Amino acid sequence: MSAPQAEAVVDLDAYRDNLAALAECAPDAALMAVVKADGYGHGMAECARAAREAGASWLGVATPDEALRLRSSGDEGPLLCWLASPGADFAAVIQAGVQVTASSVAQLEEILAAAPSRVPLQLKVDTGLSRNGAFGDEWPRLVEAAGRAQAAGRIELTGVWSHFACADEPDHPANDAQEKAFADALDVVTAAGLEPGLRHLCNSAGTIARPSAHLDLVRVGISSYGLAPAKTMTVDVPLRPVMTLRGRLAAVKRVPAGTSVSYGHTFTTDRETTLGLVPLGYAEGVPRVASNRAEAAFAGQRVPQVGIVCMDQIVVDLGDLPAERGDVVTLFGPGDDGEPSAQDWADAADTITYEVVTRIGGRTVRTYRGAR
Ligand SMILES: *Cc1c(COP(=O)(O)O)cnc(C)c1O
Repeated sequence: MSAPQAEAVVDLDAYRDNLAALAECAPDAALMAVVKADGYGHGMAECARAAREAGASWLGVATPDEALRLRSSGDEGPLLCWLASPGADFAAVIQAGVQVTASSVAQLEEILAAAPSRVPLQLKVDTGLSRNGAFGDEWPRLVEAAGRAQAAGRIELTGVWSHFACADEPDHPANDAQEKAFADALDVVTAAGLEPGLRHLCNSAGTIARPSAHLDLVRVGISSYGLAPAKTMTVDVPLRPVMTLRGRLAAVKRVPAGTSVSYGHTFTTDRETTLGLVPLGYAEGVPRVASNRAEAAFAGQRVPQVGIVCMDQIVVDLGDLPAERGDVVTLFGPGDDGEPSAQDWADAADTITYEVVTRIGGRTVRTYRGAR
């Protein structure tokens, strides 16, 4: 059978190597591979399996539903989730051996109401991101409530954690402030006579740039997929992009100068040229805002994407390169064949690589290299 017409090739060898390099970067901490949002668009179950093979002792996902889906795929190892609205099925999640996070007293009560006894539980403190986590006076109240629950045998406190806002700007003053706030939050825990368990604060950027914050565990997402946390960040960990996005030409045509292309005729050829139709559109996650701004690679050469990105397809200008239906056009990848990077597409779409890879889906078929 020939290759799928729209394909995301996921290189699991690269993923495992990235995880190993990140583990080496934080040698005294345990490693959590974050596989939320379908493994940042790379496939949660496949990445989870490869992460365990690479020695990641923990996996992390955002929602209870993701955790349950990961369990259904066969994963049985330590797993943490952290983003739950009221009504989340904590009973099922806890039954499945997933560790949950309480970010407020109300959430702790929901968890206690769902669970029989001795629930392994982590607590999240807001040290300055202003998303989840107990903020201000809520933190000592949450610690006190957790202390009472532990004394009553209802929970077992296994971790205390928080999340950076600006770790991808290593010199941003918020980083020191958050590290200090986290240390203070831990003092509240010990003053209440509790052992915090695993203390963790670092995402990819913190793992790469802030050894002082590695503590007991680091949570790596974007870097494990081979992408830098920010374009501006110096990354001296060897990372290789895991995803290659490519499509096989559905149509090829020779057109004269003055031919306008795609909806709204936003591009007109200025010479005779060959247009190639690639079956990847915004339904596959190709950003429409990148129309007429991005490039792809064809036969080892960069070619411009021209005209508006459509729902199902894009057009590339192949110039005088010989091309046939079925030939492969690569939108982004590690660069081995001269193709653009996910960062190039992020630049063209005024966004970050996280958004580019996470959105890849629709009718794209994922194929895996290096599966064991
Ligand atoms: C998504 C997420 C991470 C991973 O962040 P990266 O920047 O992708 O490494 C870590 N921790 C939490 C709580 C997250 O939500």
